[in-house]
Amino acid sequence: MTNATSPTGLWCDRCGEPVDGGGHPACQVARELEPPRFCPRCRRRMKVQVLPSGWSATCVEHGTQGTHGTDRTHGTHGTTQG
Ligand SMILES: [Zn+2]
Ligand SMILES: [Zn+2]
Repeated sequence: MTNATSPTGLWCDRCGEPVDGGGHPACQVARELEPPRFCPRCRRRMKVQVLPSGWSATCVEHGTQGTHGTDRTHGTHGTTQG
């Protein structure tokens, strides 16, 4: 039974109801404009914070996610010449 690679999660991150394959079209449309309210992985209520550049939603279990997640530059690129 190796069928679906769930693209987002088990739960709808907007209404908190289970996502069965298709998902929620209405929620997906709304999610284009609004931040999520529920964690798609554990269905917990996330702490949503609206920012000038987007939004940030924090799950106590899975951490923070947001629209602008391009701030992680520390990592596996250390080339020192000399
Ligand atoms: Zn939904
Ligand atoms: Zn979570």
